[in-house]
Amino acid sequence: MAESFFMNAALYIHIPFCHRKCFYCDFYSEVAPEPQYGDFVAALCAEMKMYASIMPWQEITFETIYIGGGTPSVLSDKQIATILNSAHTNFHFTENLDITIEVNPESIKFEKLKSYKALGINRISIGVQSFHDDELKLLGRLHDATAARQAVHEARRAGFDDMSVDMIFGLPGQSLDVWRENLMSAIELDVQHLSMYGLTYEHGTKFDDWRRTGKIRAATDELEREMYLLAIETAETYGFEHYEISNFARPGFESRHNQKYWDGSPYLGLGPSAHSYWGVNRQWNVRSLNRYLKLIDQGKMPIDGAEQLDNSTQETEYIMLRLRTGRGIDLIDYQQRFGYEFGTRYAAALRRLESQLPALIKMNANLIRLTRDGFLLYDDICGEFSVSD
Ligand code: SF4
Repeated sequence: MAESFFMNAALYIHIPFCHRKCFYCDFYSEVAPEPQYGDFVAALCAEMKMYASIMPWQEITFETIYIGGGTPSVLSDKQIATILNSAHTNFHFTENLDITIEVNPESIKFEKLKSYKALGINRISIGVQSFHDDELKLLGRLHDATAARQAVHEARRAGFDDMSVDMIFGLPGQSLDVWRENLMSAIELDVQHLSMYGLTYEHGTKFDDWRRTGKIRAATDELEREMYLLAIETAETYGFEHYEISNFARPGFESRHNQKYWDGSPYLGLGPSAHSYWGVNRQWNVRSLNRYLKLIDQGKMPIDGAEQLDNSTQETEYIMLRLRTGRGIDLIDYQQRFGYEFGTRYAAALRRLESQLPALIKMNANLIRLTRDGFLLYDDICGEFSVSD
């Protein structure tokens, strides 16, 4: 394997706990009693130890750690310290290590944030979603707008100068004006990074049930489109770069960790439901805390499934991931990896898209990338570029 393969990996750690399940969420997490937190942390450290002697992870140098969930901030700062110490004992890291932790406003206090800073965590991602208390209640969030603002102020007071705020648009009943207010509230906090997602109705969530039974009504496609375009325009007006379909950063504050997912770097995912990827391999852990704890207790890897990606899948994923980004696809890199000239390989798709091409896609001899309108039709455009042979 090339030396660079060993030099730029990402480590994802999934904390599978929340104080309450939000009504729209299908990330894997449990509302578990606190004593289980300790059992989980011990199991996670054991999982790290297993990987410490397995290729390629024993050789790889990680450049980022992302502690996500769930709600990592429900753990004590001591438990987070145990996790990070175990990572440092078992893996290799670059000096310029980037460590992000996701927090929710209701479970974060100044003292905890100070400890995070002392542990080398340099980036905080705060789940805010809205600055309207009625919307937060509808979503099933446990915080209010005041707590969200407080969390950002406390993180800044604790010394964090790299913060991201998550927002959702297209909530049931949300008007364009209310979304504009939410957007401006997020921008007024003067953070470095914004993640803004359109609400999706995931199978098995309360929101999905409520939509199907008519209790709530989804935003129309046209309204969602207006909200998305407003998000882009507003963020850009205030100095954010739209560097990925749902992500906006001040220059130099792009998420280094997520960048690794989009550029196909290897990543190791630990904890229930976490996925790992390296080269042509992908595997994923069991999506159950109890099964995870049991397997680790038996000295077994908590892996639920694995696959080897064939050439077509690798190519399709390469295109899909890069089209998410503002940089798009480097056509020379594409040709070196897959052996085709993009315009020839996808001549039929480009012909089908031709009438709308300049509006959806920017293309020259070196790159192809989506425009704002192209991002709105991301799924359809990727469908045109999928490979089936
Ligand atoms: S806090 Fe986050 S992970 Fe937990 S239920 Fe809510 S959205 Fe899902």
